[in-house]
Amino acid sequence: MVRLTKRYCEEEAWLDDEILCEPVARTDAAAPTADKLTLEQFRESISSCKKCALGKTRINMVFGSGSPSARLMFVGEGPGYDEDRQGEPFVGRAGQLLTKIIESIGMKRSDVYIANTVKCHPMIDPLNSDKRGNDRPPAPEEIAQCLPYLEKQIAIIRPKCICCLGTWASRTLLATETPIGKLRGRFYDYHGIPLLPTYHPAALLRNPALKKDVWQDMKMLKAALV
Ligand code: SF4
Repeated sequence: MVRLTKRYCEEEAWLDDEILCEPVARTDAAAPTADKLTLEQFRESISSCKKCALGKTRINMVFGSGSPSARLMFVGEGPGYDEDRQGEPFVGRAGQLLTKIIESIGMKRSDVYIANTVKCHPMIDPLNSDKRGNDRPPAPEEIAQCLPYLEKQIAIIRPKCICCLGTWASRTLLATETPIGKLRGRFYDYHGIPLLPTYHPAALLRNPALKKDVWQDMKMLKAALV
């Protein structure tokens, strides 16, 4: 008889709840592949993009990060203050929480790929770019200009599953106006790839009661990746 050993995972500290979990097999680190080269070539090809107004005020384009052969891809909203300065997605407080969420399903951040709906920092007041708390959601015309880049990234990576973090990523890839609270909790088909919407980590920082819903979504995601 197989003895199932359950343990409380340290990673679930983000839940502030006692949740039983089992470790899952981790994906191997990505070996250099043609896709990796292609993704890097694609990054270089759009690195000076100024198709929308966000390109004029950004410090760094935040293309995305992680494994070019990831089985799981997260898509967020857009870069914020910290991401604009570091050129990496999800590096602020919400990013630290996302790292814990990824680890809670037995993966490392380097196993997955993380991108955003827009690649440059949307600001409420672009003339005051040094101010924190100056972030805003991307405007529809900004999303429309940047979406082909995200679509190309998905096509190159071809993940087994996509997890959309928050309203803007979910609504954009699913082409719907349905609120995230009604979208989350089930998979949708995105050109043959199962797509699961869930709350953005920043929403969990504002409202920790949402963590239980995200944990339910992560368990679905983990099962779909087996
Ligand atoms: S947000 Fe996207 S479309 Fe707009 S300038 Fe940046 S990379 Fe180009």
